[in-house]
Amino acid sequence: MPNPYDVERSWPDYFLEHRRNTVERAGTYKCGDLPVWTVHCPSGYLGNSTIIEGEDGLIVYDTGVNTEAGAVIAEEIAKISDKPIKAIFYSHHHADHYNGTNQLVTHEQVASGEVKIYAWENFLHEMANEWGEILPRQSMGVAYYGGAFLSPEDEHHHGIGTIPAGGTPGFIPPTDFLAEATVLEIAGVTLNVFYTGGEAISEFGIHLPEFDMVMIADEFFTGIPNMHTIRGSKPRLPDNYIGALDRVLELEPEWLLGSHIIPMQGKDHITESVARYRDVTQYLWDQSIRLINKGYTPVELQHALKDLPEHLVEPPYSVPMYGTPITTVPEFFTGWVSWFSGDSTDLLPTEPRVKAERFVELMGGEDAVLEEAKRYHSEGDHQFAAELAQLAVRTNPGNEDGKLVKAAALRALGYREINPIARSWYLTGALELEEAFDPTELLVAMTSMLGGDKSVIQLVGGWRYLLDFEKAGTQALTVGVRDAESSEEVTVTLRNGVLITTEGIADGADVVVSATAAGISGAEISTSVVSGDGAVFDLLVGLLDRQMVGFKMHQR
Ligand SMILES: [Zn+2]
Repeated sequence: MPNPYDVERSWPDYFLEHRRNTVERAGTYKCGDLPVWTVHCPSGYLGNSTIIEGEDGLIVYDTGVNTEAGAVIAEEIAKISDKPIKAIFYSHHHADHYNGTNQLVTHEQVASGEVKIYAWENFLHEMANEWGEILPRQSMGVAYYGGAFLSPEDEHHHGIGTIPAGGTPGFIPPTDFLAEATVLEIAGVTLNVFYTGGEAISEFGIHLPEFDMVMIADEFFTGIPNMHTIRGSKPRLPDNYIGALDRVLELEPEWLLGSHIIPMQGKDHITESVARYRDVTQYLWDQSIRLINKGYTPVELQHALKDLPEHLVEPPYSVPMYGTPITTVPEFFTGWVSWFSGDSTDLLPTEPRVKAERFVELMGGEDAVLEEAKRYHSEGDHQFAAELAQLAVRTNPGNEDGKLVKAAALRALGYREINPIARSWYLTGALELEEAFDPTELLVAMTSMLGGDKSVIQLVGGWRYLLDFEKAGTQALTVGVRDAESSEEVTVTLRNGVLITTEGIADGADVVVSATAAGISGAEISTSVVSGDGAVFDLLVGLLDRQMVGFKMHQR
């Protein structure tokens, strides 16, 4: 719906400058006289690929986010050398690092051992788990944080941090797994692999002593670490980021390459930039802990630490363009203390809707509250305007004027924000309030994009989170499921309002069914009964809450 409280589009200067210095410099960069090239943001997509030419073959470090990016990388490789690719490294399990592979090598070349694909030992586990049990919530979060609905003028992925814009996955699974610091010799090039585990728990770096070079994946880039992404993920470990960066400082390389940066050259420059980047990471952590120990709560921490001290800012690296203090420091509170502020008033607060209704009544009703919201908005306190409008919308979800005022206030906040993730979230919140997209359609589309192909066993393993415990009551039953393709088997037992999944078919199962992944994930579950009473399986399916309902982040 059109919004009468129009906010003129604007960008902070640094937002635009950062865009010019990062993704707008897409291209292939050769590292001086060395036989090493980085394809930066292939075709504008996030996720670099680095190519090393050895004596009798090539080594590729990361392959981009989709086959479209992979095709561009393949074209660049063709310009560089006609030697065969001997090895590919997947620096970690995030999707922008392995989905161009089938454009570079074939499945047959990998299967025959002609090309080895290296990854850390936990790569496949983490990959399956990255979009795991909270996939629906993450799917919504990804769209907000990545700016899926923003116009091109508002987008800025600077090589990291937003959704990969779809495309076709071209992943080929790794063949060789690394579990500790390892020295490899490939095509006459020595590669010292070392574990890092910061941006992702499956992450590692590579030191190339002959070239005085380190490849550090996503542990260093054009924006301070996103120490716990607000899109939803498992926590990340600041200590691992710091350890990775300390390793670079120890090695003092002449060249520093990464999966989202243009190659950097010069020992002093690299040491200085990496040290600052490392120190800003520690600064946010240590100062959060210092203030937590003085009784600061999450919002107080945000306000105390929201602006980085000037000496810690160094464009385009040590800048709040990926992580930012406002999203990072509350996470230290949650991670190190808990979600609880410490004031027992906050232990089990009045439900937000009820609290809003009572506040609005005390404040003179919805109209009075919205008039004040508009006044604060026009006077430039968009945050407080949004908070007032939030009360009105919470009280009355049908209050269209309230939604539009809140949308305008969030849009104004977004246009003032340099951090691309926070900016996207504000602007997408405004679009949600204006009903520019349907949350359920969004949920269905994003879930299928991010969820990947799951096996029957994985799908059945996820049922525990779908059980409607009220419907289940005190019922008890045991169902065996066989994967029609792999013949793997699993048993699901319902008892005490929980589903327990165990390997194999249990003795005395009420029913055993055979299923395919398509049959079990469709709107109507279809399986064939192998033995026992098919009605018991139907009963179990009836207890699962399988409906995908999109939810609103800004209207509750
Ligand atoms: Zn990445």
